[in-house]
Amino acid sequence: MIQMKDKYTYEELSEQVAELTAQLQESHEIINAIHKGEIDAFIVNNEGKHELYTLKSADKTYRLFIEKMNEGAITLNQQNIVLYSNSAFASLLNVPLENVIGAYFEDLVPSDFRIAVNELIKNAWNLAESKAEIVLPGKNKPVPVLLSLNSLETDGGLALSIIAADLSLQKETLEQKAAMEKKDEFISIASHELKTPVTSIKGYVQLLQHNFQRDGNDMAASLLSRVDAQVNKLTNLISDLLDVKKIENGQLYYNQEIFDFNNLVSEVVDETSQVLKKHVLLKNLGESKMVMGDRNKIGQVIINFIDNAGKYSPIDSEILVSTEIEGDRMKLSVKDHGIGIPKNQQSKIFDRFFRVSGEKESTYSGLGLGLYISSEFIKRHKGTIGVESEIGDGSLFYFTIPIAS
Ligand code: ADP
Repeated sequence: MIQMKDKYTYEELSEQVAELTAQLQESHEIINAIHKGEIDAFIVNNEGKHELYTLKSADKTYRLFIEKMNEGAITLNQQNIVLYSNSAFASLLNVPLENVIGAYFEDLVPSDFRIAVNELIKNAWNLAESKAEIVLPGKNKPVPVLLSLNSLETDGGLALSIIAADLSLQKETLEQKAAMEKKDEFISIASHELKTPVTSIKGYVQLLQHNFQRDGNDMAASLLSRVDAQVNKLTNLISDLLDVKKIENGQLYYNQEIFDFNNLVSEVVDETSQVLKKHVLLKNLGESKMVMGDRNKIGQVIINFIDNAGKYSPIDSEILVSTEIEGDRMKLSVKDHGIGIPKNQQSKIFDRFFRVSGEKESTYSGLGLGLYISSEFIKRHKGTIGVESEIGDGSLFYFTIPIAS
Protein backbone atom coordinates (compact mmCIF):
# COMPACT_ATOMS: atom_id res chain seq x y z
CA MET A 1 0.00 0.00 0.00
CA ILE A 2 1.36 3.43 -0.90
CA GLN A 3 1.63 5.79 2.09
CA MET A 4 0.65 9.45 1.39
CA LYS A 5 2.84 12.31 2.73
CA ASP A 6 3.49 15.96 1.81
CA LYS A 7 6.94 15.71 0.20
CA TYR A 8 8.53 12.81 -1.72
CA THR A 9 12.07 12.29 -2.89
CA TYR A 10 12.72 11.45 -6.56
CA GLU A 11 13.49 7.84 -5.61
CA GLU A 12 10.27 7.52 -3.60
CA LEU A 13 8.16 8.89 -6.47
CA SER A 14 9.87 6.57 -8.99
CA GLU A 15 9.14 3.65 -6.70
CA GLN A 16 5.43 4.65 -6.48
CA VAL A 17 5.15 5.05 -10.25
CA ALA A 18 6.69 1.60 -10.75
CA GLU A 19 4.26 0.08 -8.21
CA LEU A 20 1.21 1.72 -9.84
CA THR A 21 2.40 0.69 -13.31
CA ALA A 22 2.69 -2.91 -12.13
CA GLN A 23 -0.82 -2.79 -10.64
CA LEU A 24 -2.19 -1.33 -13.86
CA GLN A 25 -0.42 -4.00 -15.89
CA GLU A 26 -1.88 -6.70 -13.65
CA SER A 27 -5.42 -5.30 -14.07
CA HIS A 28 -4.99 -5.27 -17.84
CA GLU A 29 -3.87 -8.85 -17.81
CA ILE A 30 -6.85 -9.91 -15.67
CA ILE A 31 -9.32 -8.14 -17.95
CA ASN A 32 -7.76 -9.71 -21.04
CA ALA A 33 -7.82 -13.13 -19.44
CA ILE A 34 -11.50 -12.70 -18.58
CA HIS A 35 -12.25 -11.69 -22.15
CA LYS A 36 -10.44 -14.69 -23.52
CA GLY A 37 -12.10 -17.03 -21.02
CA GLU A 38 -8.69 -18.07 -19.64
CA ILE A 39 -9.65 -17.74 -16.00
CA ASP A 40 -12.74 -18.72 -14.16
CA ALA A 41 -12.05 -17.20 -10.74
CA PHE A 42 -10.20 -14.25 -9.28
CA ILE A 43 -9.70 -12.75 -5.86
CA VAL A 44 -10.36 -9.09 -5.20
CA ASN A 45 -8.97 -7.29 -2.19
CA ASN A 46 -11.89 -5.18 -1.06
CA GLU A 47 -11.14 -2.98 2.00
CA GLY A 48 -8.86 -5.55 3.51
CA LYS A 49 -11.25 -8.49 2.81
CA HIS A 50 -10.52 -10.94 0.07
CA GLU A 51 -13.52 -11.75 -2.09
CA LEU A 52 -13.57 -14.61 -4.52
CA TYR A 53 -15.37 -13.95 -7.80
CA THR A 54 -15.86 -16.97 -10.00
CA LEU A 55 -17.04 -16.67 -13.55
CA LYS A 56 -18.87 -19.95 -12.99
CA SER A 57 -21.06 -18.00 -10.52
CA ALA A 58 -22.61 -16.29 -13.55
CA ASP A 59 -23.76 -19.78 -14.63
CA LYS A 60 -25.14 -20.30 -11.17
CA THR A 61 -27.73 -17.54 -11.70
CA TYR A 62 -28.89 -19.27 -14.87
CA ARG A 63 -28.86 -22.65 -13.21
CA LEU A 64 -31.08 -21.28 -10.41
CA PHE A 65 -33.32 -19.65 -12.96
CA ILE A 66 -33.68 -22.87 -14.94
CA GLU A 67 -34.31 -24.83 -11.76
CA LYS A 68 -37.07 -22.41 -10.71
CA MET A 69 -38.86 -22.06 -14.05
CA ASN A 70 -42.12 -23.86 -14.76
CA GLU A 71 -40.94 -25.36 -18.05
CA GLY A 72 -39.01 -28.60 -18.02
CA ALA A 73 -35.39 -28.24 -19.18
CA ILE A 74 -33.04 -31.06 -20.05
CA THR A 75 -29.61 -31.30 -21.71
CA LEU A 76 -28.47 -34.41 -23.61
CA ASN A 77 -24.98 -35.37 -24.72
CA GLN A 78 -24.28 -36.78 -28.16
CA GLN A 79 -25.25 -40.29 -26.99
CA ASN A 80 -28.65 -38.84 -25.96
CA ILE A 81 -27.88 -39.41 -22.28
CA VAL A 82 -29.35 -36.83 -19.89
CA LEU A 83 -26.53 -34.64 -18.54
CA TYR A 84 -28.77 -32.24 -16.73
CA SER A 85 -32.47 -32.02 -15.90
CA ASN A 86 -34.38 -29.53 -13.79
CA SER A 87 -36.96 -30.81 -11.32
CA ALA A 88 -39.83 -29.61 -13.53
CA PHE A 89 -38.81 -32.05 -16.29
CA ALA A 90 -38.47 -34.88 -13.78
CA SER A 91 -42.02 -34.13 -12.51
CA LEU A 92 -43.36 -34.10 -16.06
CA LEU A 93 -41.77 -37.52 -16.61
CA ASN A 94 -42.92 -38.61 -13.16
CA VAL A 95 -39.46 -40.05 -12.49
CA PRO A 96 -37.23 -39.05 -9.51
CA LEU A 97 -34.63 -36.48 -10.59
CA GLU A 98 -31.73 -38.76 -9.66
CA ASN A 99 -33.05 -41.41 -12.06
CA VAL A 100 -33.42 -38.91 -14.89
CA ILE A 101 -29.82 -37.72 -14.89
CA GLY A 102 -27.61 -40.32 -16.56
CA ALA A 103 -30.52 -42.12 -18.26
CA TYR A 104 -31.04 -42.48 -22.01
CA PHE A 105 -33.67 -39.89 -22.89
CA GLU A 106 -35.47 -42.42 -25.05
CA ASP A 107 -36.03 -44.68 -22.02
CA LEU A 108 -37.75 -41.87 -20.16
CA VAL A 109 -40.30 -41.02 -22.86
CA PRO A 110 -43.65 -42.90 -22.90
CA SER A 111 -43.45 -45.70 -25.49
CA ASP A 112 -46.22 -44.17 -27.67
CA PHE A 113 -44.03 -41.16 -28.39
CA ARG A 114 -40.61 -42.86 -28.63
CA ILE A 115 -40.44 -42.96 -32.43
CA ALA A 116 -41.60 -39.34 -32.74
CA VAL A 117 -39.12 -38.14 -30.11
CA ASN A 118 -36.21 -40.01 -31.72
CA GLU A 119 -37.06 -38.32 -35.01
CA LEU A 120 -37.11 -34.93 -33.26
CA ILE A 121 -33.73 -35.59 -31.66
CA LYS A 122 -32.25 -36.63 -34.99
CA ASN A 123 -33.50 -33.43 -36.62
CA ALA A 124 -32.23 -31.27 -33.77
CA TRP A 125 -28.72 -32.79 -34.06
CA ASN A 126 -28.87 -31.90 -37.76
CA LEU A 127 -29.53 -28.31 -36.70
CA ALA A 128 -33.08 -28.37 -38.04
CA GLU A 129 -35.86 -26.72 -36.10
CA SER A 130 -37.38 -29.41 -34.00
CA LYS A 131 -40.65 -28.97 -32.13
CA ALA A 132 -43.60 -31.23 -31.39
CA GLU A 133 -46.45 -31.78 -29.01
CA ILE A 134 -46.40 -34.95 -26.95
CA VAL A 135 -48.02 -36.11 -23.73
CA LEU A 136 -45.86 -36.81 -20.67
CA PRO A 137 -47.12 -38.82 -17.67
CA GLY A 138 -47.02 -35.89 -15.15
CA LYS A 139 -47.21 -36.25 -11.37
CA ASN A 140 -51.00 -36.43 -11.07
CA LYS A 141 -52.33 -36.67 -14.60
CA PRO A 142 -50.98 -36.78 -18.18
CA VAL A 143 -49.67 -33.39 -19.28
CA PRO A 144 -49.67 -32.23 -22.92
CA VAL A 145 -46.34 -30.47 -23.58
CA LEU A 146 -44.61 -28.69 -26.41
CA LEU A 147 -41.04 -29.99 -26.78
CA SER A 148 -38.51 -27.57 -28.35
CA LEU A 149 -35.10 -29.01 -29.13
CA ASN A 150 -31.91 -27.10 -29.95
CA SER A 151 -28.33 -28.22 -30.37
CA LEU A 152 -25.77 -26.11 -28.48
CA GLU A 153 -21.99 -25.68 -28.31
CA THR A 154 -20.87 -26.08 -24.72
CA ASP A 155 -17.45 -26.26 -23.00
CA GLY A 156 -17.80 -30.01 -23.09
CA GLY A 157 -18.68 -30.18 -26.81
CA LEU A 158 -22.03 -30.35 -28.59
CA ALA A 159 -25.15 -30.89 -26.50
CA LEU A 160 -28.88 -30.89 -27.08
CA SER A 161 -31.23 -28.78 -25.00
CA ILE A 162 -34.89 -29.74 -24.68
CA ILE A 163 -37.50 -27.44 -23.19
CA ALA A 164 -40.95 -28.84 -22.33
CA ALA A 165 -43.72 -26.24 -21.97
CA ASP A 166 -46.91 -27.36 -20.24
CA LEU A 167 -49.88 -26.82 -22.59
CA SER A 168 -52.64 -27.98 -20.22
CA LEU A 169 -53.97 -24.49 -19.51
CA GLN A 170 -53.92 -23.49 -23.16
CA LYS A 171 -55.71 -26.71 -24.14
CA GLU A 172 -58.33 -26.27 -21.42
CA THR A 173 -58.98 -22.69 -22.52
CA LEU A 174 -59.35 -23.80 -26.13
CA GLU A 175 -61.68 -26.62 -25.12
CA GLN A 176 -63.75 -24.22 -23.01
CA LYS A 177 -63.89 -21.77 -25.89
CA ALA A 178 -65.05 -24.46 -28.29
CA ALA A 179 -67.68 -25.66 -25.78
CA MET A 180 -68.89 -22.07 -25.31
CA GLU A 181 -69.15 -21.61 -29.09
CA LYS A 182 -71.19 -24.83 -29.36
CA LYS A 183 -73.47 -23.66 -26.55
CA ASP A 184 -73.89 -20.25 -28.24
CA GLU A 185 -74.75 -21.89 -31.53
CA PHE A 186 -77.32 -24.15 -29.92
CA ILE A 187 -78.87 -21.29 -27.97
CA SER A 188 -79.03 -19.11 -31.01
CA ILE A 189 -80.88 -21.74 -33.02
CA ALA A 190 -83.14 -22.86 -30.17
CA SER A 191 -84.19 -19.35 -29.15
CA HIS A 192 -84.92 -18.40 -32.71
CA GLU A 193 -87.04 -21.51 -33.25
CA LEU A 194 -88.91 -21.01 -29.98
CA LYS A 195 -89.82 -17.41 -30.55
CA THR A 196 -92.54 -17.91 -33.16
CA PRO A 197 -94.52 -20.73 -31.47
CA VAL A 198 -94.42 -18.97 -28.10
CA THR A 199 -95.68 -15.72 -29.62
CA SER A 200 -98.53 -17.59 -31.25
CA ILE A 201 -99.39 -19.46 -27.98
CA LYS A 202 -99.56 -16.08 -26.26
CA GLY A 203 -101.90 -14.75 -28.93
CA TYR A 204 -104.29 -17.73 -28.59
CA VAL A 205 -104.23 -17.61 -24.78
CA GLN A 206 -105.23 -13.95 -24.83
CA LEU A 207 -107.97 -14.61 -27.37
CA LEU A 208 -109.37 -17.49 -25.29
CA GLN A 209 -109.14 -15.41 -22.13
CA HIS A 210 -111.11 -12.65 -23.80
CA ASN A 211 -113.77 -15.11 -25.06
CA PHE A 212 -114.17 -16.80 -21.65
CA GLN A 213 -114.45 -13.41 -19.95
CA ARG A 214 -117.10 -12.33 -22.48
CA ASP A 215 -119.08 -15.56 -21.81
CA GLY A 216 -118.85 -15.04 -18.05
CA ASN A 217 -116.57 -18.07 -17.42
CA ASP A 218 -114.36 -16.34 -14.84
CA MET A 219 -112.81 -19.58 -13.64
CA ALA A 220 -111.43 -20.45 -17.09
CA ALA A 221 -110.38 -16.83 -17.68
CA SER A 222 -108.41 -16.74 -14.40
CA LEU A 223 -106.71 -20.07 -15.18
CA LEU A 224 -105.74 -18.68 -18.55
CA SER A 225 -104.25 -15.58 -16.93
CA ARG A 226 -101.90 -17.95 -15.07
CA VAL A 227 -100.99 -19.59 -18.37
CA ASP A 228 -100.36 -16.11 -19.74
CA ALA A 229 -98.01 -15.30 -16.82
CA GLN A 230 -96.00 -18.47 -17.48
CA VAL A 231 -95.88 -17.72 -21.21
CA ASN A 232 -94.53 -14.27 -20.28
CA LYS A 233 -91.72 -15.92 -18.32
CA LEU A 234 -90.89 -18.02 -21.35
CA THR A 235 -90.97 -14.96 -23.61
CA ASN A 236 -88.55 -13.15 -21.26
CA LEU A 237 -86.19 -16.13 -21.29
CA ILE A 238 -86.21 -16.26 -25.06
CA SER A 239 -85.68 -12.54 -25.32
CA ASP A 240 -82.68 -12.84 -22.89
CA LEU A 241 -81.21 -15.52 -25.12
CA LEU A 242 -81.74 -13.43 -28.23
CA ASP A 243 -80.22 -10.39 -26.47
CA VAL A 244 -77.11 -12.41 -25.61
CA LYS A 245 -76.74 -13.43 -29.21
CA LYS A 246 -77.07 -9.82 -30.35
CA ILE A 247 -74.61 -8.59 -27.70
CA GLU A 248 -72.06 -11.18 -28.82
CA ASN A 249 -72.51 -10.18 -32.45
CA GLY A 250 -72.53 -6.44 -31.65
CA GLN A 251 -76.01 -6.20 -33.17
CA LEU A 252 -77.96 -4.83 -30.22
CA TYR A 253 -79.61 -1.51 -31.05
CA TYR A 254 -79.66 1.18 -28.33
CA ASN A 255 -82.24 3.92 -28.37
CA GLN A 256 -81.06 7.40 -27.42
CA GLU A 257 -83.62 9.45 -25.53
CA ILE A 258 -83.61 11.82 -22.58
CA PHE A 259 -85.83 10.68 -19.73
CA ASP A 260 -86.49 11.34 -16.03
CA PHE A 261 -84.67 8.68 -14.01
CA ASN A 262 -87.02 8.42 -10.99
CA ASN A 263 -90.02 8.42 -13.28
CA LEU A 264 -88.75 5.23 -14.91
CA VAL A 265 -87.87 3.66 -11.54
CA SER A 266 -91.37 4.42 -10.14
CA GLU A 267 -93.01 2.97 -13.21
CA VAL A 268 -90.95 -0.25 -13.00
CA VAL A 269 -91.48 -0.65 -9.23
CA ASP A 270 -95.25 -0.16 -9.59
CA GLU A 271 -95.50 -2.68 -12.41
CA THR A 272 -93.28 -5.24 -10.68
CA SER A 273 -95.14 -5.02 -7.37
CA GLN A 274 -98.22 -6.33 -9.24
CA VAL A 275 -96.27 -9.54 -9.93
CA LEU A 276 -93.98 -9.76 -6.91
CA LYS A 277 -96.82 -10.25 -4.44
CA LYS A 278 -94.93 -12.41 -1.95
CA HIS A 279 -92.45 -9.68 -0.99
CA VAL A 280 -92.69 -6.21 0.44
CA LEU A 281 -91.41 -3.92 -2.29
CA LEU A 282 -90.47 -0.49 -0.94
CA LYS A 283 -89.12 2.56 -2.71
CA ASN A 284 -87.05 5.42 -1.42
CA LEU A 285 -86.41 7.81 -4.28
CA GLY A 286 -84.18 10.86 -3.82
CA GLU A 287 -83.83 13.89 -6.06
CA SER A 288 -84.22 13.01 -9.73
CA LYS A 289 -82.35 14.14 -12.84
CA MET A 290 -82.69 13.54 -16.55
CA VAL A 291 -80.51 10.84 -18.04
CA MET A 292 -79.81 9.92 -21.64
CA GLY A 293 -80.05 6.43 -23.12
CA ASP A 294 -82.32 3.51 -23.85
CA ARG A 295 -85.20 3.80 -21.36
CA ASN A 296 -86.45 0.25 -21.99
CA LYS A 297 -83.07 -1.34 -21.48
CA ILE A 298 -82.38 0.58 -18.26
CA GLY A 299 -85.86 -0.51 -17.15
CA GLN A 300 -84.92 -4.12 -17.97
CA VAL A 301 -81.87 -3.84 -15.67
CA ILE A 302 -84.04 -2.57 -12.79
CA ILE A 303 -86.58 -5.37 -13.37
CA ASN A 304 -83.73 -7.90 -13.36
CA PHE A 305 -82.36 -6.58 -10.03
CA ILE A 306 -85.84 -6.69 -8.45
CA ASP A 307 -86.65 -10.15 -9.90
CA ASN A 308 -83.39 -11.54 -8.54
CA ALA A 309 -83.99 -9.88 -5.16
CA GLY A 310 -87.36 -11.65 -5.05
CA LYS A 311 -85.99 -14.96 -6.27
CA TYR A 312 -83.08 -15.18 -3.83
CA SER A 313 -84.79 -13.91 -0.65
CA PRO A 314 -87.44 -15.35 1.68
CA ILE A 315 -91.16 -14.76 1.24
CA ASP A 316 -92.47 -11.65 3.05
CA SER A 317 -89.02 -10.09 3.33
CA GLU A 318 -88.47 -6.47 2.27
CA ILE A 319 -86.90 -5.34 -0.96
CA LEU A 320 -85.88 -1.70 -1.02
CA VAL A 321 -85.41 0.17 -4.28
CA SER A 322 -83.59 3.51 -3.83
CA THR A 323 -82.23 6.25 -6.04
CA GLU A 324 -79.83 9.08 -5.30
CA ILE A 325 -77.53 11.51 -7.06
CA GLU A 326 -73.87 10.53 -6.79
CA GLY A 327 -71.66 13.28 -8.26
CA ASP A 328 -72.56 13.57 -11.94
CA ARG A 329 -74.48 10.27 -11.93
CA MET A 330 -77.83 8.84 -10.96
CA LYS A 331 -77.54 5.76 -8.80
CA LEU A 332 -80.11 3.00 -8.39
CA SER A 333 -79.83 0.29 -5.76
CA VAL A 334 -81.92 -2.73 -4.89
CA LYS A 335 -81.40 -4.20 -1.44
CA ASP A 336 -82.72 -7.57 -0.34
CA HIS A 337 -82.48 -9.70 2.82
CA GLY A 338 -81.80 -12.94 1.00
CA ILE A 339 -79.16 -15.65 0.81
CA GLY A 340 -76.30 -13.30 -0.15
CA ILE A 341 -73.36 -14.08 -2.42
CA PRO A 342 -69.94 -15.44 -1.37
CA LYS A 343 -67.21 -12.77 -1.70
CA ASN A 344 -65.07 -14.90 -4.04
CA GLN A 345 -67.90 -15.25 -6.57
CA GLN A 346 -69.13 -11.65 -6.57
CA SER A 347 -66.95 -10.55 -9.49
CA LYS A 348 -68.08 -13.51 -11.60
CA ILE A 349 -71.85 -13.15 -11.36
CA PHE A 350 -71.84 -10.61 -14.20
CA ASP A 351 -70.27 -13.20 -16.53
CA ARG A 352 -72.29 -15.03 -19.15
CA PHE A 353 -74.02 -18.19 -17.82
CA PHE A 354 -72.40 -17.81 -14.39
CA ARG A 355 -74.53 -18.99 -11.48
CA VAL A 356 -73.31 -19.27 -7.91
CA SER A 357 -72.90 -22.97 -7.23
CA GLY A 358 -74.03 -24.07 -3.81
CA GLU A 359 -76.64 -26.15 -2.08
CA LYS A 360 -79.00 -23.22 -1.60
CA GLU A 361 -78.47 -21.67 -5.01
CA SER A 362 -79.12 -24.90 -6.92
CA THR A 363 -82.75 -24.83 -5.78
CA TYR A 364 -83.42 -21.68 -7.86
CA SER A 365 -83.95 -21.90 -11.59
CA GLY A 366 -82.21 -19.58 -14.02
CA LEU A 367 -79.76 -19.39 -16.87
CA GLY A 368 -77.22 -16.97 -15.41
CA LEU A 369 -77.83 -14.41 -18.15
CA GLY A 370 -79.78 -11.58 -16.48
CA LEU A 371 -76.80 -9.92 -14.79
CA TYR A 372 -74.59 -10.43 -17.84
CA ILE A 373 -77.14 -8.65 -20.05
CA SER A 374 -77.63 -5.96 -17.38
CA SER A 375 -73.91 -5.25 -17.14
CA GLU A 376 -73.63 -5.04 -20.94
CA PHE A 377 -76.53 -2.55 -21.04
CA ILE A 378 -75.01 -0.43 -18.26
CA LYS A 379 -71.53 -0.50 -19.82
CA ARG A 380 -73.03 0.78 -23.07
CA HIS A 381 -74.48 3.71 -21.10
CA LYS A 382 -70.99 4.52 -19.75
CA GLY A 383 -72.21 3.42 -16.35
CA THR A 384 -70.96 1.27 -13.51
CA ILE A 385 -72.60 -1.80 -12.01
CA GLY A 386 -71.81 -3.76 -8.87
CA VAL A 387 -72.87 -5.68 -5.81
CA GLU A 388 -72.24 -5.52 -2.08
CA SER A 389 -73.17 -8.68 -0.27
CA GLU A 390 -72.53 -10.85 2.76
CA ILE A 391 -73.46 -14.49 2.69
CA GLY A 392 -76.71 -15.00 4.61
CA ASP A 393 -77.11 -11.27 5.06
CA GLY A 394 -78.65 -10.15 1.77
CA SER A 395 -77.32 -8.33 -1.26
CA LEU A 396 -77.33 -4.80 -2.58
CA PHE A 397 -77.13 -4.50 -6.36
CA TYR A 398 -76.51 -1.05 -7.83
CA PHE A 399 -75.75 0.77 -11.04
CA THR A 400 -74.94 4.35 -11.89
CA ILE A 401 -75.38 6.17 -15.21
CA PRO A 402 -74.34 9.72 -16.14
CA ILE A 403 -76.81 12.59 -15.68
CA ALA A 404 -77.64 14.16 -19.08
CA SER A 405 -75.75 17.42 -19.57
P1 ADP B 1 -80.03 -16.26 -12.88
O1 ADP B 1 -80.70 -15.62 -11.70
O2 ADP B 1 -80.97 -16.51 -14.01
O3 ADP B 1 -79.25 -17.47 -12.51
P2 ADP B 1 -78.45 -13.80 -13.10
O4 ADP B 1 -77.46 -13.43 -14.15
O5 ADP B 1 -79.58 -12.87 -12.89
O6 ADP B 1 -78.95 -15.26 -13.49
O7 ADP B 1 -77.65 -13.99 -11.75
C1 ADP B 1 -76.47 -14.72 -11.73
C2 ADP B 1 -76.27 -15.40 -10.38
O8 ADP B 1 -76.03 -14.40 -9.38
C3 ADP B 1 -77.47 -16.15 -9.90
O9 ADP B 1 -77.49 -17.47 -10.40
C4 ADP B 1 -77.30 -16.13 -8.38
O10 ADP B 1 -76.43 -17.17 -8.01
C5 ADP B 1 -76.60 -14.80 -8.15
N1 ADP B 1 -77.54 -13.73 -7.72
C6 ADP B 1 -78.07 -12.77 -8.50
N2 ADP B 1 -78.84 -11.94 -7.76
C7 ADP B 1 -78.81 -12.38 -6.49
C8 ADP B 1 -79.39 -11.94 -5.26
N3 ADP B 1 -80.16 -10.87 -5.19
N4 ADP B 1 -79.10 -12.66 -4.14
C9 ADP B 1 -78.30 -13.74 -4.19
N5 ADP B 1 -77.71 -14.21 -5.32
C10 ADP B 1 -77.97 -13.53 -6.47
